Amino acid sequence: MRFEIVTVFPGFFAGIFEHGIVRRAQSEGLVTIGIQDLRNFTHDRHRTVDDRPFGGGEGMVLKPEPIAKALASLGVRPKSEQELTPNAVFNGHDEASRVILLSAQGRPFTQTLARELARLDRIVLLCGRYEGVDERINELYCDMELSIGDYVLSGGELAAAVVADAIMRLIPGVLGNQASSEFESFGIIDEEIAANAEGVPRSQHGSGGLLDYPHYTRPAEFCGLSAPEVLLSGDHREIRRWRREQQLRKTLKNRPDLLACATLSAEDREFLEAIRAEQHQGAG
Ligand code: SAM
Repeated sequence: MRFEIVTVFPGFFAGIFEHGIVRRAQSEGLVTIGIQDLRNFTHDRHRTVDDRPFGGGEGMVLKPEPIAKALASLGVRPKSEQELTPNAVFNGHDEASRVILLSAQGRPFTQTLARELARLDRIVLLCGRYEGVDERINELYCDMELSIGDYVLSGGELAAAVVADAIMRLIPGVLGNQASSEFESFGIIDEEIAANAEGVPRSQHGSGGLLDYPHYTRPAEFCGLSAPEVLLSGDHREIRRWRREQQLRKTLKNRPDLLACATLSAEDREFLEAIRAEQHQGAG
């Protein structure tokens, strides 16, 4: 997979992809990253990339010409007339390649989308700055606008790094244990969880769309707190049950919205009811 990041601040990325899994993915040739300095695609003395907004108002807007030139240097063509459909899923230039505009107005970036994007050969990430990017760039070149959350960043660089990191670790071969991405928060739905007559998930199981369970390591005692006894018991059946209950508890507490789409066994539902009853009693 090749990432191309188009930015006004190429220095932002110095070092950011030089650690851990992401570094290893590059050294093993599974991922390459190109950083395109937008100012290299300007032709005036001041290397101008922005201008005042039409219609007045605050701030500056990234001009379309340098971005178009940067994209042309990457072989990205403007969409043809037929392809200029609003909210098109891809630009039709190339099935294995996407141009993504980072934007607070974009569709939410999720693990599900990261998994889909990890199948591509190339992703071009376009970082906005100031008030944003001239909208014609979005219309002409971009397959999707992506937002990393409901807040406004000062630039698209942080968002591009987040998106690239989340996608990279899902590329086959990048994680040491390929299965591990399925077992963490927002992991794949594992039908076996629901199908298991006893309602007891296997030792390693897809999180089924729930948050991950809490993790502990040595020492068993830390600052007066003990690691949960069940994890030291060696009873794998009980460990699996405990972990599943912790997943449900944490998801109910921090992200109850995820429960609506999660794969839940009959036992999961009973457990959720019990926690809700517990909470109800506590409140009463
Ligand atoms: N005027 C824009 C708005 O209100 O939506 C905000 C522009 S923001 C100051 C500058 C750039 O940061 C955007 O063009 C975009 O590339 C990036 N950005 C800001 N928030 C973002 C978010 N939540 N997700 C992705 N990119 C974001």
